Amino acid sequence: MLKAIAKGLGTTLRVLFKPPSTYEYPEKKKPRAARFRGRHELRIYENGLEMCVGCELCQVACPANAITVVAAENDPAAPHSPGERYGYKYQVDLLRCIFCGLCEEACPTDCLHLTQEFELAAFTREAEVYQKDRLLARRPSGYRVPENVYPPYTGRKAAVHA
Ligand code: SF4
Ligand code: SF4
Repeated sequence: MLKAIAKGLGTTLRVLFKPPSTYEYPEKKKPRAARFRGRHELRIYENGLEMCVGCELCQVACPANAITVVAAENDPAAPHSPGERYGYKYQVDLLRCIFCGLCEEACPTDCLHLTQEFELAAFTREAEVYQKDRLLARRPSGYRVPENVYPPYTGRKAAVHA
């Protein structure tokens, strides 16, 4: 009995002065790995045009049927993206997503990527289904419009996002 108590106290003393191995979340957050996969983001070019061309490859690659893309033709006078089409509707159901990253790998324009953001709790199921307005990046990426887009991109002004 005394031996067990002494052993328990010994363990307590051993860890008493060690730095804590837990984080005071949410004030402090555990650092995430560079390859961490959080919620999705649709990048935009440095001139404000969307990088998504509505090809739907991410939707096809998704093993969880979490992505819905509906493409539409660009209006040449006010294109949303360089090229013929853009993602008219883009939706990610985060309740279905398993954060495997296959959609990111399938994207031919490097538009879609999984961010470091992991705080995705919400009070309703609807709020977990992210629409395009929540997925579009707030800031332009460093990507420039490629020169080989079809039809050729002539530097028209980017459409203003609602
Ligand atoms: S991370 Fe995986 S499961 Fe989630 S949307 Fe992309 S492909 Fe689908
Ligand atoms: S995010 Fe990428 S893969 Fe998905 S529709 Fe847009 S361009 Fe295609």
